[in-house]
Amino acid sequence: MENPSKACRIILFPLPLQGHINPMIQLANILHSRGFTISIIHTQFHSPDPSKYPHFTFHLIPDGLSEDQASIHEILRVLHLLNTDCIGPARECLRKLLSTHDDIACIITDAMMYCSKDVVENLGIPRIVFRTSSICSFLAFATLPLLQEKGYYSNNNLDSRREDPVPELPPLRVKDIPSVQRPDPKHALKIIRNMVEGTKMASGLIFNTFQDLEEPNLANLYDHFRMPTFLIGPFHKFFSAASSSLLTQDRGSISWLDTQKPHSVLYVSFGSLAAMDENSAREVTWGLANSKQPFLWVVRPGLVQGSEWLEWLPNEFMEVTSQRGYIVKWAPQQEVLSHPAVGGFWTHSGWNSVLESICEGAPMICSSFFGDQTLNSRYVNDAWKLGIKLENELKREEIESAIRKIMLDREGQEIRERLLCLKEKIDVSLKTDGFSSQYLNALSDLISSFRSAGL
Ligand code: UDP
Repeated sequence: MENPSKACRIILFPLPLQGHINPMIQLANILHSRGFTISIIHTQFHSPDPSKYPHFTFHLIPDGLSEDQASIHEILRVLHLLNTDCIGPARECLRKLLSTHDDIACIITDAMMYCSKDVVENLGIPRIVFRTSSICSFLAFATLPLLQEKGYYSNNNLDSRREDPVPELPPLRVKDIPSVQRPDPKHALKIIRNMVEGTKMASGLIFNTFQDLEEPNLANLYDHFRMPTFLIGPFHKFFSAASSSLLTQDRGSISWLDTQKPHSVLYVSFGSLAAMDENSAREVTWGLANSKQPFLWVVRPGLVQGSEWLEWLPNEFMEVTSQRGYIVKWAPQQEVLSHPAVGGFWTHSGWNSVLESICEGAPMICSSFFGDQTLNSRYVNDAWKLGIKLENELKREEIESAIRKIMLDREGQEIRERLLCLKEKIDVSLKTDGFSSQYLNALSDLISSFRSAGL
């Protein structure tokens, strides 16, 4: 019998940011390996390189972002502009595709491209939403309007309540609620609300996560989002994200790791968007230096606000750590985390990084800067107990102590053991009868059913 997926084309519409492009391209590869044909509508901003994916077709749309507007340091503005300026071009592109291809089954869009609900309006094409973060953080976002009603955004005494628990969302504390820290909470709330409402109107919901980690959140998720839902992660167990890296990955980091002892190195990376001021960066440097542990540190140009790259680093730090530290602009992160020399990961708690760390069994030290990072780090520390959260402003003493706990103490060892159990569950989940495989089968069936029902 003909494989029904063979006859189906899926249109993907990613959000053009590193942490969103990676899992969307991975999802494209996963679905392609299931026999689906893949077309990708993408912006000029952070455009993927089509030559790396000859098995997909690419359709460029103008995004209207100038170099200046596209500054990723103003992430809310970029999100707003993309969701406003892409509606017309994406709709036109989709309309053309629908008129020239009779094999299109559905469109899969990033949840943060909430304009996609307007893009598909009256075109008769089912829309599946892909949320690139965890279910727990997505639920927290969905609950924000309730938290707003309860006064978490209007109370002038919020500072004094920072450590209080949020009874509506255990184990979160007031300081973990994402928009509380934003300079413009109203704008952030509006974007989150659009994302949540846009998702509620979809025909299905995909997560890059896995059942064994997030089972306790599922009932709550189905209460809020009554639609077929698919937990088919972790994606990078199917395909690496290296091909969609926007920056060149420095392979010198792997050669350097080859010279280090097993489990001796702390890998430090704060992802593609986070930025810190020079004071915080100095605390990081002295925390690393004082811990006396070997480290591989990704210092992305722009990580330290107002800097080109490393000009702010004290000479003394370079001297003290020259024998046991290695700094790169960007690393092949998945390969780094799977390297035998790596014994821990100090992360900004972006969801891809958390998942990659879990899969490779690296205990985490969690910092957080914005968005879902505060939520992810709370879950890693309090609920899953897979790492240690740095609770307050970065301070060298706390950093040193966390590094020692993770790399040298019993606490790190216990976390490593918990991660090992979880890794085994992930392996089972990816086997033919495992949860992730079953969800993937169900997703393939749903997409094929759209096609058989006819657009
Ligand atoms: N990454 C990488 N090299 C680095 C740092 C990060 O390839 O030096 C990748 C990492 O593997 C992950 C992505 O960039 O897939 C970052 O996504 P995440 O959700 O962790 O954070 P974001 O960058 O979105 O804040």
